[in-house]
Amino acid sequence: MSVEQQSKRPVTVIGLGPMGQAMAGAFLDAGHAVTVWNRTAGRAAELVGRGAESAPSAEAAVAANELVVLSLTDYDAVIAVLESAEPALKGKVFANLGSDTPERAREVTRWLAERGAEHLNGGVQVPPSGIGSPESSVFYSGPAELFERYRDTLEVLAGTDYRGDDPGLAQLYYQIQMDLFWTSMVGYLHATAIAEANGISAEEFRPHAVSTAALMPWMIEFYAPRITAGDHRGDVDRLTMGLAGIEHVRHTAEASGVDGELPALLAQVLRRAVEAGHGEDSLSALVGRFRRA
Ligand code: NDP
Repeated sequence: MSVEQQSKRPVTVIGLGPMGQAMAGAFLDAGHAVTVWNRTAGRAAELVGRGAESAPSAEAAVAANELVVLSLTDYDAVIAVLESAEPALKGKVFANLGSDTPERAREVTRWLAERGAEHLNGGVQVPPSGIGSPESSVFYSGPAELFERYRDTLEVLAGTDYRGDDPGLAQLYYQIQMDLFWTSMVGYLHATAIAEANGISAEEFRPHAVSTAALMPWMIEFYAPRITAGDHRGDVDRLTMGLAGIEHVRHTAEASGVDGELPALLAQVLRRAVEAGHGEDSLSALVGRFRRA
């Protein structure tokens, strides 16, 4: 072990998909001693070539270091791996940076606590290429003291955004970001399909798509304080107007030979709100309509 490695916290990384590979690589680049384990053993080869230690089992990987970073597909995989490492769990700290639901994050915290281990949950907001950059950001939640203890080491991976004690919060913030991301991206791709069906290439559409997407920050800044205040005045937009607009999109899609299912779904959401008496309210009234409880 080099002198630099001795002064830095050694870390175990379990799960060597593209994300886990990037994380283990970032720790190596920053001079940490890294132990890795992956279900499919061949995936450790490149990291071993860069100086990582490949553990023979998940149990040995957990036993190797106090801090264990998990980068697995979901929390079923987390439990499957940790069950196989059960004798080594006590006293360990798991930074679980894969994605799943807030409730599953809370369950994993309870499961680990029953075995004498601690859990910091993380929601990674960047692709593997963003790991190792302080401009990137990962949501964390779990005990504040635990987060502070490992913060310096975790900041090797990306900037940290601590959300609070409730272990579900990191996944909650991650999933609401993903909700916004997926609905926006699918909307962009649907619009591109209509453009292409009419001979407008994605490249020709690009500057127009960018200028419409650039309205989003302005709209979020405008609506957020109104939504917080429960102010859904239809002074700048109205649901009846939005419904007519979405129906025009649907008709344009269908006339272009493009599936109109997506705008039809949006129209259905708005129509229900209009039928419930919100026709003269702002689009922001949908927030209350989406809530079931
Ligand atoms: P992959 O699905 O490519 O890798 C998942 C890892 O989980 C692999 O090492 C795989 O092992 C392991 N695994 C899955 N199921 C099991 C199991 N039952 N037992 C043991 N090991 C298992 O995912 P990524 O590396 O892309 O992502 C990891 C996590 O990070 C995910 O939760 C993802 O949502 C999240 N994330 C990923 C981003 C990305 O852009 N890639 C961005 C933000 C978050 P094996 O090699 O043997 O299959």
